[in-house]
Order: sequence, then structure tokens, then C-alpha cells
Amino acid sequence: MITGKTKLLGVIGHPVEHSLSPVMHNAAIAHLGLDYVYLPLPVKPEDLPVAVAGFAALGVVGFSVTIPHKQAILPLLSEVSPVAKAVGAVNTVWHTGSGWAGTNTDVEGFLAPLLACHRDWSQTSALILGAGGAARAVVAGCAQLGVRDIGVVGRDRHKLEAFQRSWVSSPVPVLATHTWEELPQLIPQSSLLVNTTPVGMYPKVDEMPVSPALMVALPAGAIVYDLIYTPNPTEFLKAARSAGAMAIDGLEMLVGQGAAALQIWLQQPVPVGVMRQSLRQHLGLPT
Ligand code: NAP
Repeated sequence: MITGKTKLLGVIGHPVEHSLSPVMHNAAIAHLGLDYVYLPLPVKPEDLPVAVAGFAALGVVGFSVTIPHKQAILPLLSEVSPVAKAVGAVNTVWHTGSGWAGTNTDVEGFLAPLLACHRDWSQTSALILGAGGAARAVVAGCAQLGVRDIGVVGRDRHKLEAFQRSWVSSPVPVLATHTWEELPQLIPQSSLLVNTTPVGMYPKVDEMPVSPALMVALPAGAIVYDLIYTPNPTEFLKAARSAGAMAIDGLEMLVGQGAAALQIWLQQPVPVGVMRQSLRQHLGLPT
């Protein structure tokens, strides 16, 4: 129930009406019996500064940030966490006594299901398909895991070079860039294969970033991670399972980044299982 004391949380984006965040955050808030509400807040790019100033005036506790504001929000913050600086994007903002602080919980979300595997990552070669915004969180996550080396696959040489240069002064292990033509040589060495491209995402659900014929060349014990959460599982993850690999879907990262954000705002442990279940139910997946 909304009361006179209800505290405000939300997600800013443009568009934002398809965001799944209100589903999982409001489910967790209801489970905890707290007087908070989490709202979708559509903000046009040109309105970002006035919206953020308005949130402070309204006493908003914190908010998630999605496309197209993840980089544009940076100059409006008085504090930015080291991980958000490394990734170059903020997805979680909260109010401090003196202004807005921001971090990037995508890295924590990406890592959550991997840390649950309890592996020694020091001999792992990670191969990341795509070099966009989500790939940056995945590179930072792989660096935190302590993998031996990271390869990034892209289709544009210039973008790949810029991506690689952007990590030069960061504490990431060897970061090599590759084109898609090199996949047949790379797949047999890749014990952690991550898809950060939208290939295979709804509505083009039949597409795959790697052919099933190549997937069978994955090393024994490989983990295949698809950041896509609709459909669930993707054809890519189905092929990974058929090839004997462990498959992790994008819903785990979505839940993980949301749980990390909610914990920052509420300053207490949050019910991750409730958040996962609410999303699965919303998406019509088995719970
Ligand atoms: P982005 O910044 O647009 O990056 C997408 C990357 O994929 C770019 O490197 C792009 O290459 C590449 N790409 C696009 N279409 C391709 C194709 N047909 N073949 C090969 N490469 C292609 O997008 P993003 O924000 O990183 O998001 C990427 C995916 O991750 C989306 O599906 C998104 O839903 C998902 N995601 C999931 C979570 C989660 O919590 N599970 C979080 C963030 C993102 P070019 O630069 O050459 O175009």
C-alpha cells in the first residue's frame, strides 16, 4: 500500500516501459514488508539533468539507470565507484548527504552465478563475443575473477582497437581482440565463453552467435554464458548444453545486478530468490 511515508525508488531510461526491474524490485519490497515503491521513470536524454535535480528535490532514495543514460549520468554524480569508472557506465545511483553517488552493479550481477561455481579461475581463458556496453562489465568481471586471459570478438577492427585501448591503464589481464573469422581457432581454448551480442534475442530467436558445429569443440568443463534473457534458454545455450558445457542465462545477471542495487538502497540483505522467481513468473518460465 502506498502511504504518506512511502519512499521512492525507480529506473530511468528512454524508453523504459519494457523494463523488468519494477517486477523484481517491487516483489522484493513486498516480501520484506517495507514502505518503498519502485517506479519506471521515462526520462528523455535532454531532460536528464533536470530530472536528476528533481529526484533530489522529491527525496528519491535511489534509482537504476538504463539506456541511453548509463554514460550521460556520470557528470551529474558527486561520487563514482572505481568499478563504474573502469566500466565507464553507471547503472545504480543513490543519494548521499551531499549529492548523488553511482556505481555499476552489472559486474556483480555477471559474477554472481560464476562465483557460485567455486572454480579456480586462474587457468581460465575467457572469450567474450561482442565489444559493446555489456562487454565492458564482462571484462571487468573476468578481471575480478582472476582469469588467465581475455579475448574479445568483434566485427569492426577500429571499434575493437578503441575497446582494447580503453583498458590499457586498468588492472585487467592480457586482453586480446579478434574478428569472428578467428572463432574456429579460439573456441577449443575457451573455457568461459560469453555472448554479449544481441544475436539470438527475441524476436530473432533462431539466430546463434556460434554455430552448433563449432560449439562441440569447446574444452571439457567449459562454461557458456549468454547475457540474453529472452528467450530463455537461447538456441546458443541449448547448443552449449548439447555440447556438454555448463550453461548460464542472462536472467541470473539481471537478478544479480538488481539484488546488488536493492541492497545498496535498503542497506539490508535482499531476497534474491523472490526476485528471480518474480521475473521467471512474469516471463512465463517454470519457477
Ligand atoms: P551494445 O552496446 O549495442 O553492444 C552490442 C555488441 O554486439 C556490439 O559489440 C555489436 O557490434 C555486437 N553486435 C550486434 N549485433 C551483432 C551481430 N549481428 N553480429 C555480431 N555482433 C553484433 O549492447 P549492450 O548494451 O552491450 O547489450 C548487448 C546484449 O546484452 C543485449 O542482448 C542485452 O539485452 C544484453 N544485456 C543483458 C544484461 C543482463 O542483465 N542480463 C545486461 C546488459 C545487457 P558493433 O559494435 O559492431 O555493432
